[in-house]
Amino acid sequence: MTDLPALDELEHRLRDHLHARQEALVSDLETMVAIPSGQGHVPGMDRMRELMVGRLEALGATTEVFDGDPRPTWLLGASDAAPPPTAVCSRPREGAGPKILIAGHLDTVHDPEDTFISLTHEADGISRGPGAADMKGGLLVALAALEALDAEGVECHWTYLLNSDEETGTFCSERHLEDAARQHDVGLVIEPALPDGSLVVERMGSGQFMIEVDGLSAHVGREFERGISAVKTLAEVMSQILALADPANGKIVNIGPLKGGGATNAVPEHAACWGNMRFAHPEAQASLAAEVEAIEANFSTDELGRPLPEDHLPRVTIHRTFNRPAKPQTEGVTAVAMAARAVAEDLGGEMPFGKTGGVCDANVLQSVGLPCVDTLGIRGGNLHRRDEYVEIESLWERAALFAILMKRIAMGETDLDLG
Ligand SMILES: [Zn+2]
Repeated sequence: MTDLPALDELEHRLRDHLHARQEALVSDLETMVAIPSGQGHVPGMDRMRELMVGRLEALGATTEVFDGDPRPTWLLGASDAAPPPTAVCSRPREGAGPKILIAGHLDTVHDPEDTFISLTHEADGISRGPGAADMKGGLLVALAALEALDAEGVECHWTYLLNSDEETGTFCSERHLEDAARQHDVGLVIEPALPDGSLVVERMGSGQFMIEVDGLSAHVGREFERGISAVKTLAEVMSQILALADPANGKIVNIGPLKGGGATNAVPEHAACWGNMRFAHPEAQASLAAEVEAIEANFSTDELGRPLPEDHLPRVTIHRTFNRPAKPQTEGVTAVAMAARAVAEDLGGEMPFGKTGGVCDANVLQSVGLPCVDTLGIRGGNLHRRDEYVEIESLWERAALFAILMKRIAMGETDLDLG
């Protein structure tokens, strides 16, 4: 037994159990990474789901699989592929006790046809593979933790939610995430830790939009004045939308790509652009939402504020969705984060806290009131790149951290107010 005096006997057993399993976990990760589940590859996502569900059911979980909701059709690169399903595996325990929701995504960003298709190990403890960090390593960290808790007889009420569209905005699974969040007390999401092991406690929110303009085509030389340029109006709308950016007050607006017109000698009839907004807090989101609405209304009403007729040109439509609300550091988040930090320190490590403008499914879960921390997965880096890596020893280390954190939450040994 290692000399970690702050751990109790059960926690020591959980840690030693997972340490002893490292070789098997590495082989599990090799299997997972070799399953291509990127870019909507249905057979790969199905195999990943079967693998995870099989292991969770072996622990006594029951599974519900929900059909995915359709994505908004105006999204950039929206595919017409069938929306992937969401699997929800639950193992309630008898009696009271906090309900823990673990959320992970089976999809990656990697091309299933690429040559970067397997986990390779380097001498310095670094292993590279597509999705190894984001987030197959994380899926395995939480799975191994649950298996260790089960083997050591720790009673814990948990649900493990597995979606397949996180990398494309969670449009198909958002409703199921929100439903699950409402039924639980605390959320643990297994995105990779920042490279130094930091835990993210605050995230910006993100929204997508598309501006579409219809005008009237005309020959530039013969009847220019008859034409109504969609590009000209789009440029006006875009400059107003871009002017909403106010980074000092937590508002970011980016536009691109864009398209419009067909030939230089024709007044463009259609023009469109896509963009992304980021907001640091709910107030910034509300302010952006109101400003975009006002801009759209301004292009759809006359000088007296009366709505223009349906067929009026130019016609401006701003499609938008604030699909990832901001995830501020609430009191609940602080309590879970402090509990996680205490476990890291008791295991002989440390856990700094960080912030990011990146978004993940914890944004959705927390938006309906579930306190969440979301970088409890493996340590690694170069996410979404062809040299994505994990620190292979962190597999068992992070699994031990996850297991002990769950044990302390389940046994009421943290400062979490779950009343
Ligand atoms: Zn991820």
